Amino acid sequence: MGVHLQGHCVCQKLRYSLDLDSPDEARTTLCHCNSCRRAFGTNYGLTAKVPLQSFKYENGNPKTHKQENGVTREFCGTCGAFICEYGEEAADKFRYVMWGTLDEPEKIPPKGEFFCKNRTGWMPEIPDVFHKREIKE
Ligand SMILES: [Zn+2]
Ligand SMILES: [Zn+2]
Repeated sequence: MGVHLQGHCVCQKLRYSLDLDSPDEARTTLCHCNSCRRAFGTNYGLTAKVPLQSFKYENGNPKTHKQENGVTREFCGTCGAFICEYGEEAADKFRYVMWGTLDEPEKIPPKGEFFCKNRTGWMPEIPDVFHKREIKE
C-alpha cells in the first residue's frame, strides 16, 4: 500500500513530500557517528533513507552544505533546520530525510542503528532492530 508523507522545516518555508510504494521503501536508522552528532547537535542522528525519486520539495529551495567527508546536507536558509542529507555515492539515488521534520514520522519507525561503537554510555540500545558497529550504507 502506498504511503504519502509530508514534512517541513521549523519556519515552514521549506515543505516536501514523500511518495513511497510501501513503508518498507523507507529505512529509518539511528547513527551514532561523530558527523551526525555534530550536525544534529545531539548524541545521534535519525534519518529515513528513501529513493531520490520519492522525495520532492513542494515549497521553497534549500541551501546546501557539503562537508569534508563528502556528506551534503540541505537546509532552510531562513530557520536553519536540516531537511535531508546524502553522501557522494548516494547523491543520485537516495535521500536521508531528517526524521523529525516529518509530520507523521511514526509511520516509518527505526529499523536499525549504525556506528554503535560510538554510542553514548547512557544511551540504551533500541530493541528489535539491527545493530552495526560502524558503517552507514
Ligand atoms: Zn525554515
Ligand atoms: Zn552518522
